[in-house]
Amino acid sequence: AAGVPVLSSNFNQSNQTGQMNPTLQQDLNEIENILEKVKQQGIDFLNAIDTVPTSTQNPITTNRNLNDSGLGALTAMEEFNQRLAPLLVSQAGPRYWGFVTGGVTPAAIVGDWLTTIYDPNAQSTNAQGGVSALIEIETINLLLQLFDLPKSFLGGFVTGATMSNFTCLAVARQWFGKQLGLDFAKNGISAPINILTATPHSSSVKCLAMLGIGSQNFTKIKTVEGNREALDIADLEKNIKNLNGQPFILISSAGTVNTADFDDFDAINKLKEKYNFWWHIDAAFGGFAACSPKYKQLVSGWENADSITVDCHKWLNVPYESAFYLVKEKHINLQVETFQNSNAPYLGDPLENFSYLNFLPENSRRLKALPVWFSLLAYGKEGFQDIVENSVAMALQFDEFITQNEGFELLAPTRLNNVCFTLAGEHNQEKVSLFLTHLNDKEKVFMTPTVYQNRKGIRASFVNWRTNENDIRIAIEEMKASILELGIE
Ligand SMILES: *Cc1c(COP(=O)(O)O)cnc(C)c1O
Repeated sequence: AAGVPVLSSNFNQSNQTGQMNPTLQQDLNEIENILEKVKQQGIDFLNAIDTVPTSTQNPITTNRNLNDSGLGALTAMEEFNQRLAPLLVSQAGPRYWGFVTGGVTPAAIVGDWLTTIYDPNAQSTNAQGGVSALIEIETINLLLQLFDLPKSFLGGFVTGATMSNFTCLAVARQWFGKQLGLDFAKNGISAPINILTATPHSSSVKCLAMLGIGSQNFTKIKTVEGNREALDIADLEKNIKNLNGQPFILISSAGTVNTADFDDFDAINKLKEKYNFWWHIDAAFGGFAACSPKYKQLVSGWENADSITVDCHKWLNVPYESAFYLVKEKHINLQVETFQNSNAPYLGDPLENFSYLNFLPENSRRLKALPVWFSLLAYGKEGFQDIVENSVAMALQFDEFITQNEGFELLAPTRLNNVCFTLAGEHNQEKVSLFLTHLNDKEKVFMTPTVYQNRKGIRASFVNWRTNENDIRIAIEEMKASILELGIE
């Protein structure tokens, strides 16, 4: 039919026969030189990371037109360095304390570069053509050892804690349906789902929206009295009793983002003996408490959860995007019912015919496990114990400044690695955002705003492996200067 392009039968005789695009060919010929330049730029950036700005007001425009013929990698790199690199601030550096932002250790860089170079598609452990998922399974087992968690968990990598929460809560949703004799994965959600939680991370609420449960459809449990974000066990049990024996999903926290508070997992264990519920723990960064004997008791009892979320691009200090989910192996059929790829026939035992595409949202997948594998082998249990303990020590030093300086006050006690504070005095509440913008614009340290118990505040989160006492000193100087410059009293 007219208009339908047909491959020319002369194709093989055209000038293009078997020839690579010339720019691609040139890049291929020059690959050694190209990678050498990238390596040198990487070294230069990492050597300067302490002084790279933590924010930028650079007014660079970013709406380039696509060129017809290619520039080649090196010319593209020149343009990147000129126009785009200046937009990239020192998020991986030691004084980026906004959100919960990790950096990248040397071993993590190695793993990440090699992942790109080998570029496997991490799916299967037994198919012809690639078994890279075995590396992922080995890495999950190393992580279980790092966190002292039992082998009754199966896990895999996703892009972040949001997707990990999504994966875990999707299996929980299927579990909930099963309790009512329903298959939500096959037939859609046909009954309201009971969700109980006290201080869910915003990403869990987003997951409730994505999962068709509804972002408003959860019961908010009271928090423990006395400036806490952890759930009040008595109020939880009261709400459980109100359900009259109906099943429910409990979303609990190992580390809330404002104040790094932890739910009481030993107490939740006792409730688990009495009531029928799916227990999910969002341990995106707080799970790393398990790496230190000093803080391990914060997660005592978490091994009995049905599912756990942990981020790797935060306290494990691997590059974005990296997180993993853990779901108890006994729930394997619920997980496969939820994520089974319809093109992949269900071949009996999902473990024997294992492929990650039947266990999580993505089909084709980067081998995100490799930077984690390298990090764990390179630094071991002691390396991560040291990173965690150093982060907490830095948080406590910063806490000491906030406590002692009369310009500031803590909004909550520092429980682990997050310091939540504000300008001292109610009359300065309307200046908090001005102060923070002024401070961040100095490009030496970066923090993010929050609202805690109806008061405007600021969060500083410590998870970067590089942060040291000198960084705390620099931040303190900039904060004192900002107070003076703005005339805040
Ligand atoms: C960061 C965080 C998330 C979301 O993680 P992403 O990696 O940004 O998707 C979820 N829960 C908690 C407690 C977090 O700290």
